[in-house]
Amino acid sequence: MNVLFHATFANKDEFLKSLKKIFIPHKIYTLDQNIPLDKIEVALVWNLPDKILKKLTNLKVIFSLGAGVDHILKSPSYKNTPIIRIQDPNMRSRMLNHVLSQILIYQLKLNEYNKAQQKNIWLNERLTALNMDLTIGILGLGYLGKFIANKLKSLDYNVIGYKNTVSTGKSQIPIHYKKSLKTFLKLSDIVVSVLPATTETSNIINKSFLNQMKKKSLLINVGRGSSLNEIDLLKHIQLNKYFFASLDVFKTEPLPKNSKLWKNQNITITPHVAAITDVDSSTNYIFAKFEQFRTKEKIKSNVKIQKGY
Ligand code: NDP
Repeated sequence: MNVLFHATFANKDEFLKSLKKIFIPHKIYTLDQNIPLDKIEVALVWNLPDKILKKLTNLKVIFSLGAGVDHILKSPSYKNTPIIRIQDPNMRSRMLNHVLSQILIYQLKLNEYNKAQQKNIWLNERLTALNMDLTIGILGLGYLGKFIANKLKSLDYNVIGYKNTVSTGKSQIPIHYKKSLKTFLKLSDIVVSVLPATTETSNIINKSFLNQMKKKSLLINVGRGSSLNEIDLLKHIQLNKYFFASLDVFKTEPLPKNSKLWKNQNITITPHVAAITDVDSSTNYIFAKFEQFRTKEKIKSNVKIQKGY
């Protein structure tokens, strides 16, 4: 079986090495090798150029080397090839740690002590909110969001969720849908977006959304940068000095040097690192799915392709 690997990660060589080891005896090709692209049946990709995808005329399955699939679905040459995306317990544990760290920095006012330390100032003690005093609203209750929501609930935070399709099953977390977004935002002290990039979620966090949030609150965006209107956020912070944001994902990545987000005192920036793809656990996951496909000669997407995530 002919397998192609292409990724734009900084650690792509390590990823490829790990995949090659586990895929023996199957050979994994890269674009710098002179291989007939119309013989490729399996593509393991992150940001594959559309002009290459177009030439993969015998493709049977595409593996996204991350949780998101927007990098594949946005390609004009993508037809209906099944897509398998990574659902990795290590990824969601890392995402939880990242989100929790940002909640705690805000909740315990740690940035204030940090700023004071830089000026040798011993700040007076300040009472901080208890977990049970805070309501955390999770936008997107999928593989990652649901895990974060349940773990935060077990730490005594009040947790509410917002998702797309009405669930029939029981949920420990109160769930809001489109019609009750206003209530969801009104209740949340902290909003965490774990939304995927789709046409519907594009700029969902805009002026009107921000105005419905509490004036003193924190927005954490670990989903996709396309969900947030960055200009609206900057204007909102200008008018609301107790509004904070922690952003891990951006409209343009890397975030351009001249972006006004960098210098804003109320914004924390991390470079899309909330939950990087874990090489070992991901390669094991990919290989298990590959074997499923190889033995059954077909595979069902673990992505709702029509919905775009
Ligand atoms: P899932 O597909 O499992 O979950 C997506 C969730 O978003 C679902 O609950 C879905 O609702 C909800 N949703 C989608 N569209 C809408 C909408 N228009 N309105 C309301 N809710 C919506 O994805 P994952 O949890 O695995 O991952 C989420 C995203 O996190 C990824 O797409 C990726 O962009 C991002 N990510 C970021 C990383 C980082 O390092 N910053 C690392 C990994 C992922 P429903 O359940 O009703 O379908």
